[in-house]
Amino acid sequence: MTHTLLCVHPHPDDESIACGGVLARTVASGARAVVVTCTGGEEGENLAGIDLGADDLVSHRRRELVDALQALGVTDHHLLGFRDSGMVETPGNQHPDSFHRADLEVASLRLAAIIRAEQPDVVVSDDANGTYGHPDHIKAHRVTVRAVELAAAPSAPLDREPWQVTKRYVHTLGRGRLLAAHQAWMDAGLVSPFGEGPIDSEQDVPFGAPDELITTEIDVTDFLEHKRAALTAHRSQIGSDSFFLNTPSELMADFFGVEQFILEAGTTGVPGIEYDLFAGIAPNEPEAGHR
Ligand SMILES: [Zn+2]
Repeated sequence: MTHTLLCVHPHPDDESIACGGVLARTVASGARAVVVTCTGGEEGENLAGIDLGADDLVSHRRRELVDALQALGVTDHHLLGFRDSGMVETPGNQHPDSFHRADLEVASLRLAAIIRAEQPDVVVSDDANGTYGHPDHIKAHRVTVRAVELAAAPSAPLDREPWQVTKRYVHTLGRGRLLAAHQAWMDAGLVSPFGEGPIDSEQDVPFGAPDELITTEIDVTDFLEHKRAALTAHRSQIGSDSFFLNTPSELMADFFGVEQFILEAGTTGVPGIEYDLFAGIAPNEPEAGHR
């Protein structure tokens, strides 16, 4: 039987930015990849200024997400049903349906029900800092941590049998790769997304994990075209001037060729860095009649 990966992302486009390579690689390997999107991206802007016609931005973004998942080969997708909270201290933060304001237990039970249904071996989300501090990304971490607990708890008020996720990770970007990519962009005469000139302090960029915390590195160089196609599908969010789309092919591998993770629950399959999210996990043997 196959392994299953489930990735939790706050907004449409986060799945492609953070985990596009690993999602495409997982599907190509014959394993299952499931994506959960927590909000509809209601607070996003039409950054690329594309013509929406009679469409509103949310339904347009829904279609972009469908196209991106198709580019990655992901067929299993769930919407958690909350509203984008926007950045800190913006009006979207106060909306009663915002993910940021959602009751932790209510949101976590919704995700736990999906986890019981999908039976993932591995679950991935943002880190506790929300990768770059966005309230929805922070909430996605909290909800994922609690949902994994609830999915395994026989006492949780949920249908279906309890399910124990074997390993839970956060996706991240090691500072070593971040700084190397920044230097490569500058050496190529391109504008780095991390700013102009040298960067060396944590104040200069708001994210990036110390390299010694990285437990897992996945080589996705064979899936860079899938990732770029998925990013391109999010046309309203990623303008034609975006570094995601303008990075020359020879630099793509430097920056996007490896996706990095930190194991937060469970044990890695090998001593030192592991190169497979499913390392050490025996193939799943679902009960007869279960998916
Ligand atoms: Zn996001």
